[in-house]
Amino acid sequence: MTKNYIAGEWVGASEASPNLNPSNTNDVIGEFARASAAEAQAAIDAAYAAFPAWSRSTIQQRHDILKAVGDEIMARKDELGRLLSREEGKTLPEGIGEVTRAGQIFQFFAGECLRMAGEKVPSVRPAIDVEITREPVGVVGLITPWNFPIAIPAWKIAPALAYGNTVVFKPAELVPGSAHALSEIIIRAGVPAGVFNLVMGKGSVVGEAMLQSPKVSAISFTGSVPTGRRVAQTCITADPMKKVQLEMGGKNPMVVLDDADLKVAVECAINSAFFSTGQRCTASSRLIVTEGIHDRFVAAMQERMQGLVIDDALKSGTHIGPVVDQGQLDQDLKYIKIGQEEGAKLIAGGELLKRDAPGFYLSPALFTEVDNQMRVAREEIFGPVATVIRAKNYDEALELANDTPFGLSSGICTTSLKYASHFKRNAEAGMVMVNLPTAGVDYHVPFGGRKGSSYGPREQGRYAQEFYTTVKTAYVFDGNGPYVPKTKGSE
Ligand code: ADP
Repeated sequence: MTKNYIAGEWVGASEASPNLNPSNTNDVIGEFARASAAEAQAAIDAAYAAFPAWSRSTIQQRHDILKAVGDEIMARKDELGRLLSREEGKTLPEGIGEVTRAGQIFQFFAGECLRMAGEKVPSVRPAIDVEITREPVGVVGLITPWNFPIAIPAWKIAPALAYGNTVVFKPAELVPGSAHALSEIIIRAGVPAGVFNLVMGKGSVVGEAMLQSPKVSAISFTGSVPTGRRVAQTCITADPMKKVQLEMGGKNPMVVLDDADLKVAVECAINSAFFSTGQRCTASSRLIVTEGIHDRFVAAMQERMQGLVIDDALKSGTHIGPVVDQGQLDQDLKYIKIGQEEGAKLIAGGELLKRDAPGFYLSPALFTEVDNQMRVAREEIFGPVATVIRAKNYDEALELANDTPFGLSSGICTTSLKYASHFKRNAEAGMVMVNLPTAGVDYHVPFGGRKGSSYGPREQGRYAQEFYTTVKTAYVFDGNGPYVPKTKGSE
């Protein structure tokens, strides 16, 4: 059994779960410990006990640890990418790409350790200085989903440790292998006991223990909307209240205007809608296409989709791997049926495929004649299922793009500076893409959304410090003037 890491020790559990390869369900990657509530509590206690010392550790120590983690990930990216693709089902190039990103994130935050600065500002009163600094928050609970098994843990763990917090990390049940491999690297880099804890297990047990514990000061969560809501509600009604950050779903639009470069538009749509099997919160499932290019765009999509190879994630030449598990496959098929019942036209894909080994293979599905009010256009499916929505002109396309409960990423394909600029300003989303897929972001800049997609401060880049630190304002009277403890109207 592959073990959890609690209070500086690898510990087994009374229960374990098999980790299956979705490209070949006969391939069992291993049995992974499933922690109990008591084990989760032990991890929280250890992180709590380790916090005072770690919060005062030198920035050199933190830098060196994060740099070592980043460097080892980079050196082993092919092997780790293979493990990731084997357990999650994204293609090997996508798996290696994700691992590379995780390494770059650790290297970025290694640098950030050395760039932590505060502000010193004059007081409005004489002989007083004001200092504004950032301090770590405490024990942070990190709850991650299955679709980015190493990058999402990396973009939470790296800033948490860089800014001096201690960590309890709970990966998604479906992808413990990448989480475990990452944890081994972090431990080998020399984190002191208790600073970093890995607790694999069920959300309802381990996640809940983190939400319920007064020793956990902050929760960063990425996952589904219903779980995210529950996490936020528990955090803000807890005593003491917890800081909370949520990244949840998307129903990201990709607008294609008449003047778009058709080739660019089709590549953007294929990538956004179907790569990584459509299992990205930044995937585009609503392709909003204006009248003049609609039919040409649909025909070019159909043709391009015929060339897509859907097969074992580890096979060279595969463009799209399997769906992650039976539950997600059932959800994809359910929505394909719903779309047909709603009157949308399924013009390509949506069929179960047989390959050499038993796996969750689904051909990418494309619907046309979709109304933006249909469930397939409103609810997140999280699979390789895209809809084409017709728009009269740019104004209607923008309106449709924003008419959604979500607001993560929003894209436009156009050769017009005027429309691109207008869209950039008016898209109700945290991220806007011009002539690029809605998915695929840099690692050094903020990531996050609006409306139903996100809650709390942004993740990644320097903006991550907003969540992983708390601000302190210090006032010092230096004795070089009259003692004026209060100004008029001051608190
Ligand atoms: P998905 O299945 O798309 O990953 P979930 O929201 O179900 O989305 O899961 C995201 C993460 O939240 C996983 O690590 C899961 O174990 C965890 N989780 C699920 N239920 C709870 C809960 N009640 N409390 C805390 N975490 C949970």
